[in-house]
Parts: sequence; C-alpha cells; structure tokens
Amino acid sequence: MNKEIKEILKNLGEISENIEGTNVLVTGGAGFLGSWICDVLVEQGAKVICLDNLVSGLRANISHLMNKDNFKFIQHDVTQPIHFNEQIDVVMHLASRASPFEFERYPIQILKANTLGIWVALGIAKKHDARFLYTSTSEIYGCADEIPTTEEYWGNVNPIGPRSCYDEAKRCGESYVIAYKMQHGLDTRIARIFNTYGPRMRAEGVYGRVIPRFIEQALNNDPITIFGDGSQTRSFCYVTDQVEGLVKLAFLDEARGEVVNIGSDKEITILELAKLVRDLTNSSSGMEFLPLPEDDPPRRKPDISKARRILDWEPKVGLEEGLRRMIGWYKG
Ligand code: UDP
Repeated sequence: MNKEIKEILKNLGEISENIEGTNVLVTGGAGFLGSWICDVLVEQGAKVICLDNLVSGLRANISHLMNKDNFKFIQHDVTQPIHFNEQIDVVMHLASRASPFEFERYPIQILKANTLGIWVALGIAKKHDARFLYTSTSEIYGCADEIPTTEEYWGNVNPIGPRSCYDEAKRCGESYVIAYKMQHGLDTRIARIFNTYGPRMRAEGVYGRVIPRFIEQALNNDPITIFGDGSQTRSFCYVTDQVEGLVKLAFLDEARGEVVNIGSDKEITILELAKLVRDLTNSSSGMEFLPLPEDDPPRRKPDISKARRILDWEPKVGLEEGLRRMIGWYKG
C-alpha cells in the first residue's frame, strides 16, 4: 500500500470501522481528490463505484484500482441520469472542473456538474436513502472581507464575473443539498474545500493551479509566472490532510447536516510561495509578473475551528514538507 494512503488510514482512527463494507458512489472519482478518496475507501474495504466522464479526470489516476474486487469504474457524465440496482450507502459528489483557467473555457460544463450533476447525484442518494457528501469550495465566499473566514460568512460573489460559473454553481449546489435535506430529510454534509495540492494534481500548462504550475516552471528553469504583484494570499492544504477531513466528514455520524471548512489556516503570499518552490527545487528560474486575473480573491484563509471541534481534524503536513513530497512525485 502507498505510504501516504497508510498515513491517511492511520489518521482516520476509529472511523475506519464505519467505512468497511459500505457501498460508496464517488462522482469525479478519477479526478485529483476523487481518486485519493477511492484509494482510501478501497483500501479500507468499502465497495466503491467510481463514476467519471474522464474529461478532466484521468484513467491513470485509478488504473491501479481496476483489478480490485471492491472497485468498479463507470465512464459516465453525471449530468445524465444513471440508475443502480445495487444498494448505495454513501454518495460523494466531487465531479467538477476546479481550475480558474477552466472557468473561461468550460463554464457551461462547470455549471452543469454543480446543478444538473448534483441533482442526479442527490436523486441517487434519495432513492437509496444514502448519506450525501458535497464538495463545495472556499469560492462560495468570493472575495471575502472576513478573514479568517468562518462557515457563517455569506459570501461576496460577483454573479456575472469570470469566476461566476464556479462560484455561483457551487452556491447553487449547496442550495440543492439544503433543499434535499429539508424536503426529504436526507443525511447531508457539505465540505468547503480551500486550496489543496499534492500528487495527481494536473499541471498541464495553462490548465493547472498555482502549485503544479510553479513546480513545473521551476523544474524546467522557466520563468515563474506571478499574477499581479504576488501579494495575494492563499492557504495551502496537502492532499492527505484534505482527504482525511473529507472522509471524516462523510463517515462520522456526528457530522450529519454540517457544513465545514476544510483547509489549511497557514496563509502565504503567492510571491513567497514562488520563492519557496524555487528554493526547494534549486531552480534558476526568474520571476515573470503578469496581469492579475479579474476577481482574483486578494486573501483566502479559513477559520477551521469547526473542523477541529466536529471532526477532531487539523492539517498535519506543513507547506514545505508537502511541497517536497509533491516535487518528489513530479520527478518520478
Ligand atoms: N497564480 C499565479 N501564477 C500562476 C497561477 C496562479 O500567480 O501561474 C495565482 C492566482 O492569480 C491566484 C493564486 O495564484 O491568486 C492561486 O491560483 P489557483 O489557480 O491555484 O486557484 P485560486 O486559488 O485562485 O482558485
């Protein structure tokens, strides 16, 4: 078993017992976070159905699971109805593109995954009386003027800006979840995921998020592209910590009905991040300053006291350690 999956299972502690033997549907299961979740659940003895249309998820992320008896992959677009004969106990809806570069190019697909897609996923949960976890995002807070941001903050979102397909779709997705909870008494949980990074995150030139882009640029000794003056901040959570939080939120009985921020509360500027990546890769890259994208949030940092309290969770892997691991994965 992969060392990092082992680490997650150890940190899950007693919750592991709740996972064994359950039938779990993971939408977007071949994506970055979805595939890590499939790994953990399969290893812990759940029966996993992984649904993915493979337009942004990758077969390579799950190829090592294909021959496992308790793993089934179905290539399917979750915005289209699908019916299961076998019992489903838990639905984890992760399907959606999430990179700001994709917001420009695929806004309709992003809207559909978080409106039509969540409607299909919730319908499955309702039919099977399954528990439902939705992976929402810090983006629902928009350009937050409350930092650190608590779950009580309502958001400051531009409904017609370039990020609106993601921000508003995720807000609509949350609204769907609450509607199914109210009208049908469904057991729901909402995770608001803050910036997360780690192996399997795509760099892929223009479509990548900031960390894979910086690592790739630094390893090639290409200029590191800073948008704006680099004074905007983010708080980066390593994937093993994020996955532990998501699985705890999905499987802890006490988390029923909760909405929880999951991410790191260690804030760093993008310029500092670029320098750190350059140092850790011993790169000779220079810095190239490019225009700041419209509506790029100036600061982002969660208040994670609720996750600490309800899930007994906190991030354990520091940024430097996480970056070292990710750089190691890149180098192969
Ligand atoms: N960013 C940057 N250079 C890049 C890519 C991103 O300076 O090559 C900045 C981006 O403008 C944002 C931050 O890094 O302020 C995080 O970007 P990311 O795409 O990871 O996602 P976001 O947190 O904005 O959703």
